[in-house]
Amino acid sequence: MEAAIWALVLHGGAKEIAPEKEQANRAGCLDALAAGAALLRSGGSALDAVEAAIRVLEDDPTFNAGRGSVRNTDGEVEMDAAIMDGATLDVGGVAAIREVRHPISVARLMLRETPTLLVAEGARRFAAAHGAETWDPAHLAESAGESGHDTVGCIALDMRGNLAAGTSTGGLEGSLPGRVGDSPLPGCGLYAENALGAVAFSGDGESITRGMLAARVMQSLEAQPPQAAIEAALARLGRTGGEAGGIVLDRAGRIGWAHNSTHFAVAMVTSEDEMLRAYLRKDEEAAHA
Ligand code: ASP
Repeated sequence: MEAAIWALVLHGGAKEIAPEKEQANRAGCLDALAAGAALLRSGGSALDAVEAAIRVLEDDPTFNAGRGSVRNTDGEVEMDAAIMDGATLDVGGVAAIREVRHPISVARLMLRETPTLLVAEGARRFAAAHGAETWDPAHLAESAGESGHDTVGCIALDMRGNLAAGTSTGGLEGSLPGRVGDSPLPGCGLYAENALGAVAFSGDGESITRGMLAARVMQSLEAQPPQAAIEAALARLGRTGGEAGGIVLDRAGRIGWAHNSTHFAVAMVTSEDEMLRAYLRKDEEAAHA
């Protein structure tokens, strides 16, 4: 019998990374990758791996998610997150949520609920009712990140052939209060379906949403390998403008990733050789091949 395969890919945002922050981006992505990979290696689920990896990224102030979230025009932190189960097509999402430490875990709690997305006060109340860990907003704002597209995302394939995708973000700095980007919207910032693959994006949310980038990737996966599928989706930004980066996995565990931003922090590992790899630009991958 063939050995079961697994794979995990995550990103720390499509952005420009200052030289002094390169190391923190690589290290943060690799720490999160290790947390998710440990679960997959021991037979854990894709959903658990995605949530675990994103929780590590949310606690790292290097990234615009959780603790490092940027502020809106009111100087407040509002976060969006979602998780999707490729086996059932269940989606759990929260948007413009405040005062929680791990938006991805609130999204996970939403996964089996009927609504796919709860926003603002409704999302916060749902989190409180389910005992989600809260954070003092003053604490969040104090450590809020500087700027850029550094949403985090993660996709995974587990040994049972289940795929999952997740995203978490503080949104775009200086946005209007209540603004919701692509990250919690299935078909825009993320998607997962066992028969095809899983995908997650970062970048200018309005452009990603207008181009339905995640939906485009899924459709392309019906006929194309993952790298061609992600490149074709990003090419749609030629029409709307905007910067983005995306990661994709197909059901065979093949990986694709691309970006039109200067940098895109990614990390990946598969059961093939279990090597943890991190890159800040696509051309680094070719240089290391
Ligand atoms: N895509 C996110 C948003 O528009 C931002 C990001 O990727 O950093 O909310």
